[in-house]
Amino acid sequence: MTLLHTESSLYQSNDATAKLASVDLSRAGQAATDFVEISDVTLSYGGDEGVTAVEDLTMSVRKGEFAAVVGPSGCGKSTLMKLTTGLVIPQTGRIAVDGTAVKGPLDIVGMAFQNPSLLPWRRTLDNIMLPLEIVSPHAQRLRKHKAEYVARAEAMLDLVGLGGFGSKYPWQLSGGMQQRANLCRALIHEPGLLMLDEPFGALDAFTREELWGVIRDLHQRKKFTVVLVTHDLREAVYLADRVFVMSARPGRVVLEREIGFERPRPIDLTYTSEFNDIVHELREKIAEARADTPPIG
Ligand code: ADP
Repeated sequence: MTLLHTESSLYQSNDATAKLASVDLSRAGQAATDFVEISDVTLSYGGDEGVTAVEDLTMSVRKGEFAAVVGPSGCGKSTLMKLTTGLVIPQTGRIAVDGTAVKGPLDIVGMAFQNPSLLPWRRTLDNIMLPLEIVSPHAQRLRKHKAEYVARAEAMLDLVGLGGFGSKYPWQLSGGMQQRANLCRALIHEPGLLMLDEPFGALDAFTREELWGVIRDLHQRKKFTVVLVTHDLREAVYLADRVFVMSARPGRVVLEREIGFERPRPIDLTYTSEFNDIVHELREKIAEARADTPPIG
């Protein structure tokens, strides 16, 4: 019950500081420079004779912006995530994050996927602290400043409604709680960019909406830039400042839709006609893109 209470207070996020942060973030984000720049990028898996996953892909995400990417299955959304984080390098085009060309894996990125993949033999707190053991400069500081980092991890747990659960093993947590811990792990090293690939896809509808509240509030407070890949159009419209719709493979951006609802956004927004009109608009664009889907092979 304690957890539920914490969740609902996070979810409503009524405090003045959070409101102020949200206004600053969305407005400052629009005036600021692009944090992620993808220009004319083409990537084929398996060389020239292989599968072209994205072609002439161009998009940019502003600093502090919450961007969502939607599109038909197989259109290259996960490829876009891998390209942006430097896990794959394109054949042509340019990708830059925070003004620096991406040439290999980036450590200013936090990532979370559908499967929380917490290590079962580590307690939740130790799972969350894992990136600190790897990412510089924390890896070098960790041993000497352990107490400071533990306090940071515990503060993250509090923020996502998991205060007091740090000593539990992942298998002692529900799916929603594991995904909360996963978000903490992605953010513990305070990355400038958070990449989310269907992070709520395996959760039931209520838990998913609770997690929307968690990520909404984290974004509001911490002011990182987010790229969210999702199949869920309601999720995209509820969370994002801008939604990018991709074409069928090879993926390109075919629609960029600004979402102007003021923040913080209450969940009731998702039941309004203005909200549903945007969801329908995106759905139609994806139906068009799906109709163009090439046969596999
Ligand atoms: P999405 O995330 O939108 O479903 P992906 O980025 O995973 O799409 O994949 C885009 C296309 O590239 C798909 O046709 C997929 O089969 C192909 N693909 C993805 N990864 C590989 C790979 N490692 N080797 C060969 N083809 C791949």
